[in-house]
Amino acid sequence: MAKVSISNAIKRYGQTQVIHGLNLDIDDGEFCVFVGPSGCGKSTLLRMIAGLEETSEGKIEIGPLDVTHLDPAQRGVAMVFQTYALYPHMTVRENMGFGLKMNNTPKDQIAEKVAKASEILRLDDYIDRKPKALSGGQRQRVAIGRAIVRGPQVFLFDEPLSNLDAELRLEMRVELSRLHDELGTTMIYVTHDQVEAMTLADKIVVLRDGRIEQVGAPMALYDNPANKFVAGFIGSPAMNFLDADITASAVKTDGVTGLKTPTSLKARGKATLGIRPEHISVKKTGDWTVNLIEELGGVSYIYLTNKNGQKLTAESREHGKHKKGDKLSISFKMSDAHFFDPETEERL
Ligand code: ADP
Repeated sequence: MAKVSISNAIKRYGQTQVIHGLNLDIDDGEFCVFVGPSGCGKSTLLRMIAGLEETSEGKIEIGPLDVTHLDPAQRGVAMVFQTYALYPHMTVRENMGFGLKMNNTPKDQIAEKVAKASEILRLDDYIDRKPKALSGGQRQRVAIGRAIVRGPQVFLFDEPLSNLDAELRLEMRVELSRLHDELGTTMIYVTHDQVEAMTLADKIVVLRDGRIEQVGAPMALYDNPANKFVAGFIGSPAMNFLDADITASAVKTDGVTGLKTPTSLKARGKATLGIRPEHISVKKTGDWTVNLIEELGGVSYIYLTNKNGQKLTAESREHGKHKKGDKLSISFKMSDAHFFDPETEERL
C-alpha cells in the first residue's frame, strides 16, 4: 500500500501537450477514479503512473519512491486492462501464476499466492479451466487475479469493465468494491462512465483536456460541482441548464415562475441555472410540451421543450400520469438549483 503523488506532470507527444502541469495526491488505500470524456487524458495519466508512458516533465512518487524515470517493473504497481490478454493455452491457475514463474518465484510461493487470489476472487471452481471456457466476467477476474498475486502497492485499472455487458458490469462493480475493502490497497481506476466513478470511488478526479476540473468525494461533486462542466458530467441523466437573469428579488428564467433570488446570490444579471432532473416536479398544465417519456420501471424520464426551443429532462415516479403531447409546468426547490457564470462557467 502506498500514497501516490503527482507534481507538475506534463506529457507531450512530439509538439502536442496532452497533460498540462497536473498536481494530484492519492492517499494510501484510497480508491481513486479518473473520469472524463474520451480524449481528456485519463489513460495517458494512468500509463504515466504505470511507467508505460514517459513523463515529459514533473514528478511521480509512489510511497517514498520517486518513480518518474523507473521501469514499470520497479514501481510496485500492477495494471489491469480492458482487454484481458489471457494466455489461451493455459489454465486459470497457470495464467495467474505465469508472471511469478517468469520472476523465478519458488513454486510453493506461487501456489500459495494463486490459491489466495483465487479464493478472494471466487475462482476456485474454475481454477483448472482454460479461458475459452469462462464468461467475460470470469476472464476479467483472472486478469485481476494476475495483478493480485504480484502483491502490488498500487492497482491500476484502465476501463476494466468496458467489454462486459450491463449486468456483468454491475456485478463486477460490486466485486471491485469488495476487493478494495478486503485488500485495502490503493487503487486508481480510469473510466468514462460517471456511474462507475460515483459507485466505486472514494475520490473522483474529473479531467478535461489534460487538466483537472475538480477533485472530491462522489457526493461532494454531485452536491457542489465547481463548474458547469463537472455539473453536467456527474449525475445521470445530466443536469439541465437554463439561461437566467438574477435580479434583487427574483430569478427570471424562461418557462419557470416564482423563483426567488436566494440570499447567497446578489442581483448580478445573466447566469446559468442548473437543475437536476431528479429535483424537478412536473404537473398539469403549463408551457412545457412532453416530447417523449422513457419508462424505466421505477422511474420515468420526461423530455420536455418550451415554445422557445429550450429543452429539459425531468424525472418522475408517477407511472402513467403523463403522456406525449401533454402540456406541463415545472417547479423545483431553490436549494436544489446551481448557478454558474455564463462566461467562465465557474460556480457562483
Ligand atoms: P482518454 O483515456 O481520456 O480517452 P487518452 O489519455 O487516451 O485519453 O488521450 C489523451 C490525448 O492524448 C488525446 O488527445 C489523444 O489523441 C492523445 N494521445 C494519446 N496517445 C497518443 C500518442 N501515442 N501520440 C499522440 N497523441 C496521443
